[in-house]
Parts: sequence; structure tokens; C-alpha cells
Amino acid sequence: MLRARGVRKSFGSLEVLKGIDMDVGTGEVVVLLGPSGSGKSTFLRCINHLEAPDGGSIRVAGELIGYREHKGRVHHLRPREVTRQRRDIGMVFQHFNLFPHQTVLQNVIEAPVGVRRRPKAEAQERAHELLRRVGLSEKAGSYPRQLSGGQQQRVAIARALAMQPKLMLFDEPTSALDPELVGEVLETMRDLVRDGLTMVVVTHEIAFAREAADRVVFMDEGRVLESGPPSVLDRPSNPRTQAFLKRFL
Ligand code: ATP
Ligand code: MG
Repeated sequence: MLRARGVRKSFGSLEVLKGIDMDVGTGEVVVLLGPSGSGKSTFLRCINHLEAPDGGSIRVAGELIGYREHKGRVHHLRPREVTRQRRDIGMVFQHFNLFPHQTVLQNVIEAPVGVRRRPKAEAQERAHELLRRVGLSEKAGSYPRQLSGGQQQRVAIARALAMQPKLMLFDEPTSALDPELVGEVLETMRDLVRDGLTMVVVTHEIAFAREAADRVVFMDEGRVLESGPPSVLDRPSNPRTQAFLKRFL
């Protein structure tokens, strides 16, 4: 579902991604770990082309993201084309970025109606289903400010799911939450894992990685240091991975 090869990205003279390779199969869950500044967010942002990589390639469901190959040459896609590609890639951020003046239901149907041109009644029906799935059926008519952080994040997840993405990206979805609200969001994410969603998750929740990930990938200074099944969390071979993980034990 995701195939990244040699992804490079610099900001000015700062080389943030130094050739990232990653494969995520359909229905697989990859948890991306690494110290602050190692390039995790930048890599996620490259996947949906919020950042344009300087080198390498990213394919989602076989489609080259952000670029077009023609007669052996590579051209930038038009913004409209990139927007189209992004519809298949759901993203949930640390800060939920809900539309404050719209109800929960309106937030969830916004993209399906506005972007996918789905009939409103159909979008609403599906939104109610999604809100049920994230445990928020009774909040459809509430405004974001009336919800807890954990509830807002679950609305953000429902909103991303409403576009029926092929791939879901999560960038530290629980790190802005009060500790007592983390569990409900992780539980929602576990449900998505059980449903077979393809996910790349940046998180420091090691317990979640252990039980939900098919593979964990450690990044450091713009490179993949180590990757493998969750059992590498117990026996990392790279000393820098060991040092990083010590902080969580
Ligand atoms: P964290 O765990 O703190 O979220 P991260 O692994 O997600 O860290 P990134 O946000 O990808 O790290 O940042 C990697 C590096 O790139 C950092 O040094 C950061 O300052 C730099 N960086 C990120 N975005 C930009 C930008 N738009 N312009 C300049 N530098 C940037
Ligand atoms: Mg980050």
C-alpha cells in the first residue's frame, strides 16, 4: 500500500531525511519511533505531499505521489492532482484541527460532501456510523469546544475515515492529550487495527506499538536505524535504539 524509496528532504542546509525506505502492506500497521527532530513528521508529511521530497519516490496504492513519469522524465503534478491523491490518505495530527464553528456531524461530512461530492443524506448516514464506531454517537450535534480533547481527537479520526482512505497516517495523536484521555483514543485506534486499516503511526506509546504494530521502525537523524517486529522493542540491536528505548522503560 505504501512503498517509499530513498526519500530525501532538506530544509535549507539542514538534511532532515537522508534516504528513507519503507514498505507497508495492505492492512499492515507500522509504528514509527525516534527522538525529537529525527524527521518522523517530515516523512509523514512527504507521504501526503504536504512536503515535496527532494529525492526518492513514494507510492501509495501503486500511484506515485506528487509527481508524474512521462517518457522517462519526472514532472511535478498540478496542485489539483495532488489534492486528488491526498483524498486517499487520511491524516490525524497531534492537534485535532476541527472546524470550530461546525458541529461534530458537519465536521465529519465536510470532506465527503465538499470534496467527494457525496449526497448529503448519504454522507450523514455514514457519519453517524463512523461516530458510532469512535464511540461518539451522542455528540453529533455538539461543537468541538464542548468536547474533551480525547473526544475531539476521536472526531478527527472519524473525519479522516469519512474519506475512506486507503492509508491512515497518525502523527502523535495522543501526545497533546491529558493522560487520562490517552486510553480512549488508543482504544479507537486499536479498533481500526482490528478492522484491517493500513496505518503508519508516529507515537511514543510503546505499549500500543507492542500490541498493535506489525512492524516498528526506528528513525534517527533522518535515517531508519532499525526495523522489525514489535519484539525488537525488547531486544534492539542498535545502541542508539537501545538508548532511545531506555527512556520508556
Ligand atoms: P518530534 O518528535 O519533535 O515531533 P520529528 O521526528 O517529527 O520530531 P520533524 O518535525 O520531522 O521531526 O523535524 C525534523 C527536523 O526538521 C527538525 O530539525 C526540524 O526543526 C526541521 N524542520 C521541520 N520542518 C521544517 C520546516 N518547515 N522548515 C525548516 N525546518 C524544518
Ligand atoms: Mg513530529
